Amino acid sequence: MAIYDFYQIFGQIVFILGILLLSLLSITLILGRLLIKEDRLIFPKLLLFTIDVFYGLFKKFSENVGVDSKIVDQIGVEVRNKVNEKLFNKIKPQEKIMILPHCLRHSDCEAKLEASGLVCKNCNRCVIGVLKDKGESLGYTVFIIPGSTFLKKIIEKNKFKAVLGVACYQDLNLGMMKLSKFSCQGVPLSRDGCINTKVDSRAVLEKMGVKLEKTSPVPMDSSCSKESYNRKAL
Ligand code: SF4
Repeated sequence: MAIYDFYQIFGQIVFILGILLLSLLSITLILGRLLIKEDRLIFPKLLLFTIDVFYGLFKKFSENVGVDSKIVDQIGVEVRNKVNEKLFNKIKPQEKIMILPHCLRHSDCEAKLEASGLVCKNCNRCVIGVLKDKGESLGYTVFIIPGSTFLKKIIEKNKFKAVLGVACYQDLNLGMMKLSKFSCQGVPLSRDGCINTKVDSRAVLEKMGVKLEKTSPVPMDSSCSKESYNRKAL
């Protein structure tokens, strides 16, 4: 009888925890969609808690309710961008690093891969050179990396307080999770993949603190353009 009671209570506890978890995932999804569609940030700590603790489960839950699981990464990036924005802007560029993905490079790129990442030769063929040039002139330390193993090395070997990253939504969210003790800002790729990716360079330059006129000519994509980028325009 005692064992029967134990299983009954145990079953009830599991049932209640299941209901609570489903409620938490549903509320986070609703609030996350509100943030993405209407730019309204409500209970950011709750959103980050759900994403950080139940990342995989939350993705499966989104798929099961008919929402693309990419939204989980999108919510994570958007919340962190909003939460960190003020502090990020207060930190000097000399204490910031910028991390760019190597998939943005031109197909004829001749840069070599070294321990710190890709060593861009500033050949003016792709947006990496433009962003690196501008970032370094402001005081940023810039890394162009092929994967998250490089991110670990960068954290170990460099002193910095803030990070500006560019990557696909998933890598960006996971990277920002890893770097959560720093003040992070992220710009998602507008076209992701392994090669010929794109980024809105205006968005990256604005996050860097570059003031741009709406009409300023800015390189808007990345690696596929046959034209050289006009650095002087910045
Ligand atoms: S500017 Fe682009 S294509 Fe040229 S070396 Fe740098 S990363 Fe490679």
